[in-house]
Amino acid sequence: MSKQNEKSPSEALKKRLFHTPKDAYATLDEAQIQSAFDYCEGYKDFINSAKTEREFVKAAIKTAEEKGFKPLDRDKKLKPGDRIYLNNRNKSLLLAVIGTRPITDGVSIAAAHIDSPRLDLKPNPLYEDNNLAYFDTRYYGGIKKYQWPAVPLALHGVVALKDGSTVEICIGENESDPVFCVTDLLPHLSSEQMKKNASEFIRGEDLNILVGSRPFKDDKGSELVKLNIMKILHERYGILERDFVSAELLAVPAYPARDVGLDCSMIGGYGHDDRVCAYPALTALLETQNPAYTAVTVLADKEEVGSEGNTGMQSAFFENFIADIATSFGNYARHVFQNSVCLSADVNVAFDPIYADVVDIRNCAKLNHGVVLTKYTGSRGKSDTSDASAEFMAIIRRLMDDNGVLWQIGELGKVDAGGGGTVAKYIADLDVDTVDLGVPVLSMHSPFEVVSKLDVYMAHRAFSALLGRE
Ligand code: MN
Ligand code: MN
Repeated sequence: MSKQNEKSPSEALKKRLFHTPKDAYATLDEAQIQSAFDYCEGYKDFINSAKTEREFVKAAIKTAEEKGFKPLDRDKKLKPGDRIYLNNRNKSLLLAVIGTRPITDGVSIAAAHIDSPRLDLKPNPLYEDNNLAYFDTRYYGGIKKYQWPAVPLALHGVVALKDGSTVEICIGENESDPVFCVTDLLPHLSSEQMKKNASEFIRGEDLNILVGSRPFKDDKGSELVKLNIMKILHERYGILERDFVSAELLAVPAYPARDVGLDCSMIGGYGHDDRVCAYPALTALLETQNPAYTAVTVLADKEEVGSEGNTGMQSAFFENFIADIATSFGNYARHVFQNSVCLSADVNVAFDPIYADVVDIRNCAKLNHGVVLTKYTGSRGKSDTSDASAEFMAIIRRLMDDNGVLWQIGELGKVDAGGGGTVAKYIADLDVDTVDLGVPVLSMHSPFEVVSKLDVYMAHRAFSALLGRE
């Protein structure tokens, strides 16, 4: 080695003492990068056919059954190696692979959510205004309202009928389907609109979806455009206007997830938050064979609106599921929880050079730097967060390092810049060691979120490491 290439004492000491985050492309070899890209093809396919929590549950059950999972049967005694699932009202899903260690040694939990921000139809949604027909909506979750007009929308969901049957609706995903949209004002006439605050220039009440303009063929009467739309819906789905009362119809962006960038290194699409963690949490569990600790994946609903209700993470459904497993081995759920560990699988902000001033660059995740480990979420002075312990952080970083998972740390923005939460605190409340780990996202909660393929693959590796831990 020539003298010039020798490290100076300060350089050598820095190398030993400092932590320098590395781009995953500088760390992974070609084969690993290819594995990540291949994995993401499966991810894109899955989220293109599962845009809502109901569709995700359905698709996950289908895949799980192909991999030997069976509905939980409370009359059957569980044994190591059993692969079970519990479908909670078609909107959240619990899956488990029973481990070889005693259940009171605790379980490994990967908990993600499968609901995403969108526009929900109101209970009385259909109306006509000046010969145009609309669906009136109420937005679901934290959206920037101005991002939703002028975007093609698809309609997904169910209409439950009084006779107990359910009609499934999905319009706008096939190329031959029509799509819908919220209209926006032309720039030529926007001088007043553009003076308004961004949170006000598109009002929630104005997020009305254009659904028709052709009147029913008759020269007499009012609401003929609305009548024609209702006639089409009735012919196609057998539904009446009153049936909207018992429906859950969601408007979501109509386009599929696509590669982003000339190098195809990223994926853009609707609802990466939190399918980009839910899918890896699912694939990791499906691949888990004979784990030491019972491995559990939770796919929860209602995270975007506070995790409430009987399909949200604050509901007893999760506790009851663990209790069912514990009971099968003659134990109590509380003795399982106190020894359990959980990765709350949710996204965090990725550093965006265009909006650099809202984050602390030394404590913000970056694209292509692996999964982001978030010790605490919440806002202000650590409000509304479970804040993982130092000891648990040490356990998780060792687990990641031992399994070749590239990871980084991240906070959700600068102190007092805003904030947000995840399901972590609800699981921690059950006496479980819990920390957030997930994929960094650009344009979070927009109709077109962006993630890095390498980070998505690292999420799969991270949840595999957790669920397969020795
Ligand atoms: Mn989320
Ligand atoms: Mn979110």
